[in-house]
Amino acid sequence: MHMAESAPSMVDPFGRRITYLRVSVTDRCDFRCVYCMAEDMTFLPKSEILSLEELDRLCSAFIRHGVRKLRLTGGEPLVRRNVMSLFHALGRHRATGALEELTLTTNGSQLARHAEELHACGVRRLNVSLDTLDPAKFAAITRWGKLDKVMDGLAAAKRAGLAVKINAVALKGVNDDEFDDLVAWAGDQGFDLVFIEVMPMGDLGTESRVEQYLPLSLVKARLGKRWSLDETDYRTGGPARYYTVRETGRRLGFITPLTHNFCESCNRVRLTCTGTLYMCLGQDDAADLRTPLRASEADTLLDAAIRDAIARKPKGHDFVIDRRHDRPAVARHMSVTGG
Ligand code: SAM
Ligand code: SF4
Repeated sequence: MHMAESAPSMVDPFGRRITYLRVSVTDRCDFRCVYCMAEDMTFLPKSEILSLEELDRLCSAFIRHGVRKLRLTGGEPLVRRNVMSLFHALGRHRATGALEELTLTTNGSQLARHAEELHACGVRRLNVSLDTLDPAKFAAITRWGKLDKVMDGLAAAKRAGLAVKINAVALKGVNDDEFDDLVAWAGDQGFDLVFIEVMPMGDLGTESRVEQYLPLSLVKARLGKRWSLDETDYRTGGPARYYTVRETGRRLGFITPLTHNFCESCNRVRLTCTGTLYMCLGQDDAADLRTPLRASEADTLLDAAIRDAIARKPKGHDFVIDRRHDRPAVARHMSVTGG
């Protein structure tokens, strides 16, 4: 299609090239992780949510504008009805080479039945969130989740030839006695592992972020006593710093979103399932892409709206957790933008 040449790639006012789009395909989830959602979450009315065809059209517009890596997330992406049809549709951009990577972040609960089909759509790696190897703790953290389902999903992903990265949120007094076990287990399984600091997003009702917050500098120092962590220059453009665990040969990452040192290399924007584009995870400014999308079948208005939005991408964010600021820095939940 000649339009592929006509859309210039997206460079923001700070010279950062935007090549990575994360798309939350639903705000719903079959878990209620304590740091992510209140148990009685209110979800968006279905009428506000983009159809899978509209999501495909939006993603395809971004690919035309230079996005090379697309991650579907949520909520839980695999609980959206018929979501595999979206993966199949997006897989065509993998087939042409326009898209270098099609991936997802999932809680793994539905992975067992989708792993093979994901591979057939061109997915080669995925992130699975798993904070503990203890079934009772898993149930307590996720409220509604079952650990054995996730383990089945992980086994299916391996069989299908999908590379797995485990995301574990570091939670003080909850899973901090298990970090060594997680490193050893991930090594045995052939998975990379990334620890994430709790971020101040969304009101959770009863839970307090100050109680959950565990600085990863401490986690890394503690792990360094048991494991040899070799520095690597592996970067994804995001807030993760990676080491190689010499004993297992696997990568170990630390995501510290509360520090600012990664904003200069930020290459990403985030789209919600209502068609709202967030230019920064830690800022409230957003662009409505649903209106231009629905206003016409041609993409002229949409393309202009995307360009305007990128021109507003802020320099960085402003997360703070301390005793005086024990409230969300941004009001939306992580399940809206998918992290
Ligand atoms: N449901 C999928 C999952 O859990 O992987 C995808 C969406 S989930 C919002 C994406 C990631 O955000 C998960 O790894 C989850 O642990 C993380 N997350 C959720 N709330 C968080 C918070 N307040 N701070 C840090 N990470 C959070
Ligand atoms: Fe659902 Fe993922 Fe949030 Fe857990 S972290 S409640 S699995 S969206």
